[in-house]
Amino acid sequence: MKKSEFFLIKKKYSDNIDDYIKKGGFSSLKKIFSDSISPEKVIEEVKKSGLRGRGGAGFYTGLKWSFVPRERSIKKFLVCNADEGEPGTFKDRDVLFYAPYLLIEGMIIASYAIGAEVSYIYLRKEYKWVLEKLEKAIKEVEESGFLGEKILKSDFSHKIKIFLGAGAYICGEETALLESMEGKKGYPRLRPPYPATFGLFGYPTVINNVETLANVPIIIEMGGENYAKIGIPKSTGTRLIALSGIVKKKGVYEIEHGKLTLREIINDLGNGIKEGYHLLGVIPGGVSAPPLAYDELDISYDFESLVERGTMTGSGAVIVFGYREDKKKELLKILESIVNFFRDESCGKCTPCREGTWAIFSVLEKIKSKEILIKDGIEMISSLNGKIKGLCACPLGESCALVSEVFLKKFEDILK
Ligand code: SF4
Repeated sequence: MKKSEFFLIKKKYSDNIDDYIKKGGFSSLKKIFSDSISPEKVIEEVKKSGLRGRGGAGFYTGLKWSFVPRERSIKKFLVCNADEGEPGTFKDRDVLFYAPYLLIEGMIIASYAIGAEVSYIYLRKEYKWVLEKLEKAIKEVEESGFLGEKILKSDFSHKIKIFLGAGAYICGEETALLESMEGKKGYPRLRPPYPATFGLFGYPTVINNVETLANVPIIIEMGGENYAKIGIPKSTGTRLIALSGIVKKKGVYEIEHGKLTLREIINDLGNGIKEGYHLLGVIPGGVSAPPLAYDELDISYDFESLVERGTMTGSGAVIVFGYREDKKKELLKILESIVNFFRDESCGKCTPCREGTWAIFSVLEKIKSKEILIKDGIEMISSLNGKIKGLCACPLGESCALVSEVFLKKFEDILK
């Protein structure tokens, strides 16, 4: 049976403020002030909704907000992480471009909940072309009275600013992002302390991904409990996925968590595999997510199911890979380009990652030139994995080692 998309966020897509308002835009914000809903109650609704971060780690959003100190006298910040830079990931770009008002409304509500008077959109440098559109949208929202001093005659005032990144992948990691906003080199920080208590310039800060924040007005509109009925327990709501690779119809799709398998995503949404190609597997959540082989694709797309299989929904990038003629050559090319990406983007702060990513790359070169056997290559990468895991300030180095090891093990028979 052909299964289709589920529209929740996409229903609110509009890059025209009047049209957005006609679609019910800003009604959640109005509801908060007209019904005198307290910040604590907003956090409670988001907790009830079961919303989890859509940027990678999948942490519970309401819980994250609740870690911020409640004292009104302490300055706080909200940062929208729009530094989407993982290869194959382009779903937040869709929201920034097609739903800027939904994002802005989500940011205002989130800021109200945590008590932030200023929030930032940390925009990926390569998305500079969206900057003008976002600036225009912020100005229009201010002129409409939904942003600025004493919003809708309430006591709450808020300002949204845009910070343009300088082009480093590692600044998508929340603490590196904060460092770069402070004018420093984008090195991830050691934790604790966590940003919720010690964030931007030392003030409590919540960093949420674009898609995560776009869900917030929808949750307030329908209520946390009703939102939680969409999807499945522990993976509520919908998910925007960026489908790419060897499918016929690439694009950004919105699916209900837990209702489609990866194979259905490929066949029903992607219209199947391109002529002349043979399917080998799928990277289900950006290149930091270990791959699944072609016989493992009858798995539901949700947080828990993928974690149970040793991978993750990650950044929502579903990359379908395969070959035309030489499967061995194609597989090595894919893995080499992933490792090359991590090697280039390692910030160099931690020795195991800085040196380890180069070492992994050289093992692949040796496999390619047949200097070593595939089974020896797997052993070497497993051993490197053990020397990187748990010893770095962020997951980049670990991801490189884990993804390489899983790739080689899963496709060992082909690579022999
Ligand atoms: Fe930088 Fe790699 Fe260390 Fe992350 S793991 S902080 S990217 S050196």
